[in-house]
Amino acid sequence: MKTYPLYLNGQFVRTQKTIRVVNPSTTEVFAEICTVDRAAVAQAVKDSHAAFQTWRALTGKARGAFLNKIADEVEKRRDEIARAITSENGKPLAQSLGEIAMTVDHLRWFAEEARRAYGRIVPHQTDGKRHLIVKTPIGVVAAISPWNFPLVLAVRKIAPALAAGCTVILKPASATPVCAALFAECVAEAKLPNGVFQLVAGSAREIAQEFLDNPLCRKITFTGSTEVGKELIRGAANQVKPLSLELGGHAPVLVFEDADLDAAVEGALITKFRNTGQSCIASNRIFVQRSLYEKFLAKFVEKTRALKTGDGLEDGVAVGPLINEEGLNKALEHINDATKRGARLLCGGKRIARKGFFLEPTILADVPADAVCMSEETFAPVAPVVAFDTDDEAIERSNHSQFGLSAYAFTRDLKRSFRLMELLEAGTIGINDGVPTTSNCPFGGVKQSGWGRELGVEGMDAFLETKHVSLGLGI
Ligand code: NAP
Repeated sequence: MKTYPLYLNGQFVRTQKTIRVVNPSTTEVFAEICTVDRAAVAQAVKDSHAAFQTWRALTGKARGAFLNKIADEVEKRRDEIARAITSENGKPLAQSLGEIAMTVDHLRWFAEEARRAYGRIVPHQTDGKRHLIVKTPIGVVAAISPWNFPLVLAVRKIAPALAAGCTVILKPASATPVCAALFAECVAEAKLPNGVFQLVAGSAREIAQEFLDNPLCRKITFTGSTEVGKELIRGAANQVKPLSLELGGHAPVLVFEDADLDAAVEGALITKFRNTGQSCIASNRIFVQRSLYEKFLAKFVEKTRALKTGDGLEDGVAVGPLINEEGLNKALEHINDATKRGARLLCGGKRIARKGFFLEPTILADVPADAVCMSEETFAPVAPVVAFDTDDEAIERSNHSQFGLSAYAFTRDLKRSFRLMELLEAGTIGINDGVPTTSNCPFGGVKQSGWGRELGVEGMDAFLETKHVSLGLGI
């Protein structure tokens, strides 16, 4: 079993205490990662702050060249990193390779964006003055990432922060630190100056407390549950520490009667079952217009039954295990609750009798609005489907959620599409598109799905301060 070191101030560091990493397909421990105590986090912040002074002084072009070198290393080791992601997270290997492709694209996109931290000149309205708006990097950034897309969601923070001229300390999820350790090796290979990127692991609460309390840490960027996001908001109050928060979601999918049925079924499949339903932008409520309802269900059930569930390293597997026993039990509770309230179980619904945390891909029809899965994230391959009659009803029911991360609609009507764009309360809206996320466009949530945006120009702006400089030139 391999023990992975941390990466602190340019050195791979081994410590006594470790976290064990379990393969959710086999329930076996296959790796460990070293951990830090709070004093070591404080030292990492200090080193990060020292490194910031020189990193920020490089040109954007030079920082971009480093990001491209990291991308080269990740690409070189893609098969090894993909196997690590599948082993620690469980997702099918093809999806791990897809995650790496998107990681590389983020790195390369922000490598280019590093040159474009543009300010502007604002026309003066008082004689003798001139006004400049300048952008400067915010400083030391702490990044806390989740286990569901363990590499790409970390890099969605690291790449723009480094491009902006910030230095970064990453704390990955304890369930999936191996790909982060491999990423640190890629950073080392790319020869970034010491302290520009560091990797810590250990007690999330203790590490986060140091990030919150240490005045040299200037920003925390977090992806994870709304519950932990709220804890960070409370903790950030003392120092008014800036936060970017990518939190939970509860995406609706709206299938209108004019939709291309095959495209809608494919869209429902990908938004629901990709990553075994453990995605913040996964569909959690599928609303289908009544005239298409039974036809949609028949096709959706047929396609879902054909999905192969198993160890992500096996050929042809489309759905992997859930991350742990707790995740599996939560899904079973949601299914049980929905059927008790009158939902029809059309397929799946049971734990698969084999080692690992496997659930049969499940479809529930006629799910009542008060079922738990209609308001809470199930984070599993469980698809609740409901019929609707009018556009207004569909929009109203979609927006009836504390979350607002993403929403999907399938329709061929342009007028309706514009209404949906304007009225759906979500940060990302996929119209006839089940995979809307892309490096060059902003990603983030409204309502309790978070604060701020990642990716796109907004993604780098999150790590830049905006300063107004007023020049009294007397001209
Ligand atoms: P989580 O339990 O909130 O954990 C996320 C990260 O926060 C992990 O690194 C975790 O560390 C750390 N953490 C735990 N307790 C903490 C605390 N008290 N203070 C600071 N950090 C703490 O979430 P998860 O279960 O990994 O991820 C699933 C959730 O993330 C879902 O709600 C999903 O919708 C959301 N998510 C959102 C997005 C988005 O972009 N909006 C993307 C993906 C996932 P440990 O692992 O060491 O506990």
